[in-house]
Amino acid sequence: MQSGPSHGFRDECGVFGVFNAEDAARLIYLGLYALQHRGQESAGIATLDDTAGIRFEREMGYVADVFDEERLSRLPGRSAIGHVRYSTAGDSSLSNAQPIVFSSGRGPLALAHNGNLVNAKEIRLRLEEKGTLFTTNSDSEMILHLVARSRKDTLAGSLVEALNEVRGAFSVVVLGREEILAARDPNGLRPLVLGTLDGSPVLASETCAFDLIGATYVRDVEAGEIVRLSDDGVESIRYAFPRPTPCVFEHVYFARPDSLVFGKSVAASREAFGERLAKEHPVDADVVVPVPDSGTYAAIGYARASGIPLALGLVRNHYVGRTFIEPKQSIRSFGVKVKLNPVREIVKGKRIVLIDDSIVRGTTSKKIVKMLRDAGVKEVHLRISSPPTQYSCHYGIDTPTRRELIASHSNVEEIRQFVDADSLGYLSVEGMMEAFGRPEHATCAACFTGKYPVEISEAAQETEELAAGLEVGP
Ligand code: SF4
Repeated sequence: MQSGPSHGFRDECGVFGVFNAEDAARLIYLGLYALQHRGQESAGIATLDDTAGIRFEREMGYVADVFDEERLSRLPGRSAIGHVRYSTAGDSSLSNAQPIVFSSGRGPLALAHNGNLVNAKEIRLRLEEKGTLFTTNSDSEMILHLVARSRKDTLAGSLVEALNEVRGAFSVVVLGREEILAARDPNGLRPLVLGTLDGSPVLASETCAFDLIGATYVRDVEAGEIVRLSDDGVESIRYAFPRPTPCVFEHVYFARPDSLVFGKSVAASREAFGERLAKEHPVDADVVVPVPDSGTYAAIGYARASGIPLALGLVRNHYVGRTFIEPKQSIRSFGVKVKLNPVREIVKGKRIVLIDDSIVRGTTSKKIVKMLRDAGVKEVHLRISSPPTQYSCHYGIDTPTRRELIASHSNVEEIRQFVDADSLGYLSVEGMMEAFGRPEHATCAACFTGKYPVEISEAAQETEELAAGLEVGP
C-alpha cells in the first residue's frame, strides 16, 4: 500500500509493457517497482524471446523479492509485459498471478489486466458449457479465452471481438508474437498511459513508472481504444464508443501523487480537494496535520486555503511489513502505533485540523484521534478530503462490504461520536467534482454516490444491499 494506514480500500493492479527495446525485462522490472503501490501480492514478467516463444516468471511477493539477476536473465527478449497484483477477483494464489500465459492457434499470448469484469460469471459459464478449461479463477483469463476462440484473422481483430463481449473495468496489455496490444474499457475506469523511451513505445498504469526508466509520457490510451505496438509503429483502433467515466478514487487515494492520471496531476487534485474542504468546513485551529501519506497533499491545500499553518504532527513508519505480528491485546492501538506516531512537541496543547483522504470502517480514525489526545492535543477537528464512502467498488478496487463501511449505516454526527473527534467534515460530492474538474455524469464516483456507470448485476446489487442491512425492493 502506498498510502496511509487508515485504509480498507486496497489498490488493484498495475501493468507495464515495452515494445522492441534493449533488455525489456529489466525495464519492466523497474516499471513494476514504481507501480508497487498498486499491488503487493504477486509480480510477474512475460517476454517474447528470439524464437517467438513467450518466457515468463511470476511469484507471490514484492517486485524486489520476486526478481533477482538470475530470474531476470531467464527473460530474454526485446518486448515484454509485466503485472503487479492485489487480488480483486479470484483467490490470492500463485495460479492467479499475472501475466497469464496461454498457447493459442495464433501462437503464444500473455495478458496483464487491471480492473474487474462485471459479467465474468456469465461468460465463464458460457465458455465452460462449450468445453473451455480454465487454469485460474480470475476474470482476466476470460479475455484470453475469448481472444483464442475468435476466428478473426488478426490478434487485434480478435481482441476487438473479445472486448466487445466483456463489461466492466479493464486496462489490459496483451503480448503476441508480433505485437503488443493495449486497451481500456469504453468507460476508461482504470488508467493506462502510452510513452516513449528512445523511440520504443512503452505502456504503464501510471506515469511515475515512466519517470523511473526515463521514458516520456505521450498520451493516455483512450476509453474504448486499442493501441497496437508493432514494427509498423503505433496504431490506434477504436473498438467501442467511448463514454469516459474515470475513477475519481484514483485521484483521492490510489494513484501515486507524482503521477499524471487521466491527464491530470494527482498531487494537484489532492491539493484542490483540500482547498475546497477548507472552504466547505472551516474551523478555528492552530495547525493542520495530515495523516501521512494519504492526507498530505489535501492538508497542503487545506492549510493554503485556510491560512492555518501546516505541521507534520504525525510520522509514519514506512518499513512495516505485511506480516507484522501484533502483540497481545494488552498493548492497545498497537496496530496503528506501529505505523504512526505523533510528534508531541508539535501537537501538544494545540487545536488541530486532522486531514485524511477517507474513513472506511472508522476504527483506525478512532485510534488516531485517541493517540493524538494521549499526546496532549487540545482539540481534534477531523476533515476528510472526499465524501462519505458508502458503497463497494465493482470495478477492480478491493473494498470492504457495505456493512463494514461506517458511512453506509451512520450519519456524520454518529461517525464523529464514534471516532471521538471534536468536529468532523467531509468534502461534498459537488466540491469533489469541481475540484477534480469533471462533471459527475462523466466520472465514476459510485463508492460515494451509488451511481454505477457500468451496470452491475442484480445479484451483486442485492448482495450489497443485504450486506448493508438495507431493504431490498420487490
Ligand atoms: Fe473508483 Fe469508487 Fe468507481 Fe470503484 S466505485 S471505480 S473506487 S470511484
